[in-house]
Amino acid sequence: MFSANKNIITRFAPSPSGYLHLGHAYSALMTAKIAKDVGENNGCLLLRIEDIDRSRCHKIFEHNIITDLTWLGLKWQMPILRQSDRFDIYDSFLTKLTDSDLTYPCFCSRKDIINNIDRVLNAEHGPDRAIYPETCKHLADIEVSKLKSTGKPYAIRLHMDRAVAITGQLDFFDDILGRIKVDAISYGDIILARKDIASSYNLSVVIDDGLQGVNLITRGIDLLHATHVQRVLQRLFNFEEPIYHHHKLLSDENGRRYAKRDRALTLKSLRENGKKPNDIKQMIGL
Ligand code: GLU
Repeated sequence: MFSANKNIITRFAPSPSGYLHLGHAYSALMTAKIAKDVGENNGCLLLRIEDIDRSRCHKIFEHNIITDLTWLGLKWQMPILRQSDRFDIYDSFLTKLTDSDLTYPCFCSRKDIINNIDRVLNAEHGPDRAIYPETCKHLADIEVSKLKSTGKPYAIRLHMDRAVAITGQLDFFDDILGRIKVDAISYGDIILARKDIASSYNLSVVIDDGLQGVNLITRGIDLLHATHVQRVLQRLFNFEEPIYHHHKLLSDENGRRYAKRDRALTLKSLRENGKKPNDIKQMIGL
């Protein structure tokens, strides 16, 4: 358990790529509940819209997120932060890493990566889906310039080995799991900026959590892998270490995890079918 803490700042950070479902309701309410339990004056809850992927995110979903959360009775401190407004900030932090020789361009397609993978450890669960086989890591400068001059798109990756050599062994505290040693090397040279998006989930989240002073992160256990790599980025940027609560994931009666594809169980449809916020809380066991 967390000990009662000072000024807790926490956040709920959904992506507006679909309607919220019962799993999101659990996560949002749990986030607020833990902040209330451990923080003075209920803690401070922030709402952050994680919409860097402009092809998957839509305003209609963002509006609906606000309607759903308000309906559930959640209150957050304004303003709502939108990641799509912050690419300049992400870029300035990425430049710091590049200036420290901690990044390299990666021209690989998904297919190149699959074909080259010899380390498939965590392939299903790694932050970038498959551990990157480091194909572009050792490209000569001249080769990089040549590829860039052809206009071939590229992503930016982190030299994880160099990063970890700088940070040294890190850990983090989760109130359920206890103190955990960071193992970021197992996740390989993660993507910091995608070919099509000038940032990535890990980069944006670490910068926003750091700049917003978030010191308590509640999110699903499916993001535990992200915490390992995010701790490394936090240290490289000299951000404070937050405490964590990685919560269980909710499943339906058939044992399937709630997902955005399950239309019938969106909060919107439950609300439109007459359910009340208390019914939702009962359904998710809170
Ligand atoms: N935007 C992420 C999601 O919707 C959550 C990020 C986080 O809590 O760190 O899954």
